[in-house]
Amino acid sequence: MSALPPDVVPGSMLARYWDAPVSRLVEPPTHQISVDEAERLTIASLVVMALIDGYWNGNKSGALGRYPWRENQRVEDGRYAGDALGDRYLGHNIACIAVDENGSILDFEFNHNEIFNSSAEHAEARLIRRLFLLNQSYNDWQRFDAEQAEFVKYGNTMNGVTIYTSLESCAQCSGMMTLAACGRVVYLQTDPGQYRVGNILYNLSKPPPASTTHPTVVARPHPAPKYWAPEPMAAAAFGFGPMEELDRAYLAFVAGVQSDPTSRYFFESPGGKRDQSSSITSFLCTDAARAVYSRAASALASLSLAQPDYRPPRSDGQREGVRSNGEMLDHARRFVRHALVEARRGTPHH
Ligand SMILES: [Zn+2]
Repeated sequence: MSALPPDVVPGSMLARYWDAPVSRLVEPPTHQISVDEAERLTIASLVVMALIDGYWNGNKSGALGRYPWRENQRVEDGRYAGDALGDRYLGHNIACIAVDENGSILDFEFNHNEIFNSSAEHAEARLIRRLFLLNQSYNDWQRFDAEQAEFVKYGNTMNGVTIYTSLESCAQCSGMMTLAACGRVVYLQTDPGQYRVGNILYNLSKPPPASTTHPTVVARPHPAPKYWAPEPMAAAAFGFGPMEELDRAYLAFVAGVQSDPTSRYFFESPGGKRDQSSSITSFLCTDAARAVYSRAASALASLSLAQPDYRPPRSDGQREGVRSNGEMLDHARRFVRHALVEARRGTPHH
């Protein structure tokens, strides 16, 4: 073992990885997921996909021009369909939801890079901020008897929350979830551009094996990591078929654009200017991506459960107030209707 620099504490998580190959640092955690649990994870994942399908808008470079990968979204020659809010592209086709230990969907956010004209904050980061705001306004004197209200310290608020995001999180979003002490993040498509930062953060702060997601009730290693990153879970870990379809279709898009940029470009403006990049957000405008999302939305609408009565305990061991899988599915469908009919893609959130 090479000598540790003086600012790396012997025995710390960083010291444990100091001489290890990079492959160990980016290794995903192993998950043991029961069929009952897989069903819950699937319901929530389908909700994210149904939201994106419902607000699908592939006009990344505007409604007018030519998008060879969007023939099915073409309304007429040189013009492409937007969504119920109009032709204008507000942000990428990426969204996330937060689900608590009771199986309640707390809220959702969409990527809104275009409407904010900024790439500095993604959907997951805005969702975390919003959840803290909601929690602090909900937990106030108008709704509770102040004598009865249980004070929850900010560091514990997100312990039992799982973020489901359609695309693997970036460094900032993973960092926000870590600072928020969020329990778990499930992602539905690999983003090769994010260098597995969620896995790296998790491995460097991994709690002991017998832990729950609640950092305050487990024995901390010494010296303890200051922040505990959420457990990253690729949806493929619970057999979620759309993940493999999206990952495969994205590679086909990259290969297609790169091998034939003169006819398989992403976009050509009415003035003849071409966008020949093969970015993942461009892929998320294509017919191939849309087809996977549409099938997922239909799957949520027609899903029949094998384990409708399954009701897992929370980390406090109690089942009271926890939704069964059947109740969660009903809740999920009602949430999607709310989000698609009233919620304006979440734009009123800001
Ligand atoms: Zn991000």
